Amino acid sequence: MDCLFCKIISGEIPNYTVYENDHVLAFLDIHPCAKGHTVVVPKHHVNSLLEIEEEEWQNVMHGVRLAMKRLQQVLNPEAINIGINDRGAAGQTVPHVHWHILPRWEGDGGGSVHSIIRGGDVGEIEEMA
Ligand code: 5GP
Ligand code: ZN
Repeated sequence: MDCLFCKIISGEIPNYTVYENDHVLAFLDIHPCAKGHTVVVPKHHVNSLLEIEEEEWQNVMHGVRLAMKRLQQVLNPEAINIGINDRGAAGQTVPHVHWHILPRWEGDGGGSVHSIIRGGDVGEIEEMA
């Protein structure tokens, strides 16, 4: 399959591995947004979160947790963001679902999940409900 992350999983493209098991590979992002920025990819190719089977989801989340613990152990960050760009309008550029783990420190210049999108025509909460 002509997928960048599948090629990383197969070893065709090298990576700096943070954590690996039967279900996931976690490796350093080539353009880190934060020190230790890591991407966790399921070994089974799917484009979007919506395509992950229930049992596989649980296995992948376990892998994300263990990759996060590894980063905490090695880098000892003060905090962590975990994010997913699921499909193009959300910023996904590699169509193989993946979790971004972003180690964080006070004063590192980053924002919160709320800074991904703010404002625009979001409507009233009562109307949305
Ligand atoms: P997305 O924008 O799809 O959520 O995230 C894709 C991520 O993959 C980006 O943060 C990008 O820097 C990273 N990336 C793209 N190509 C490579 C690569 O060849 N190796 C690694 N390690 N990361 C990559
Ligand atoms: Zn893939």
